[in-house]
Amino acid sequence: MKLIFLGPPGAGKGTQAQRIEQAFDIRQLSTGDMLRAAVAAETQVGKQAKDIMARGDLVPDAVVVGIISDRIDEADCANGFILDGFPRNVAQAEALDEMLVTKNIVLDGVIELAVDAEVLIGRILKRAAESEGGPREDDTEEALQHRLRVYEEQTAPVAEFYASKGILNTLDGMQDMDEVTRQIQAVLKEI
Ligand code: AMP
Repeated sequence: MKLIFLGPPGAGKGTQAQRIEQAFDIRQLSTGDMLRAAVAAETQVGKQAKDIMARGDLVPDAVVVGIISDRIDEADCANGFILDGFPRNVAQAEALDEMLVTKNIVLDGVIELAVDAEVLIGRILKRAAESEGGPREDDTEEALQHRLRVYEEQTAPVAEFYASKGILNTLDGMQDMDEVTRQIQAVLKEI
């Protein structure tokens, strides 16, 4: 199964993707996690991404499209994958479309987790306070407000992009986590 999880920062995409990864034996591919690993390893990509990520802007499309294209080709993705945090704008969604055609892969569905902005800020500041490895550099209130603005301006239109293809499933991400998981599984049974 080939899926996309869409939703603003703090919507619970990562948590839900990890649960579905286990249940369906498909790989969660988080561009945010991959970029943070690149920053930590001080690779070329990491050096390019570090400051952009710290302020909550998007790293260049070519960088993330390249990362995803390479990752999808790896053997552990043969059974399927969940794109978590990608695509982040319509240009990335179009590049993904082209890439999947080239690779002969069909996207099965897009799950969007909808959460109100006030709820997100509270959730992320809580995550930052409780994080064992210390807070993420972009979990400050200022960077967070910026990430939410970037989401509204650049990522929200991606939902429209998939709605027009008839593969968007929007769920209420403010429900209890287990209920959200249950609803995702119900959607996946139908596709
Ligand atoms: P996330 O962990 O998904 O919240 O991503 C953290 C940060 O990584 C974002 O604020 C961006 O700076 C960068 N990032 C992650 N995914 C993408 C993407 N698909 N396109 C551009 N930047 C991204």
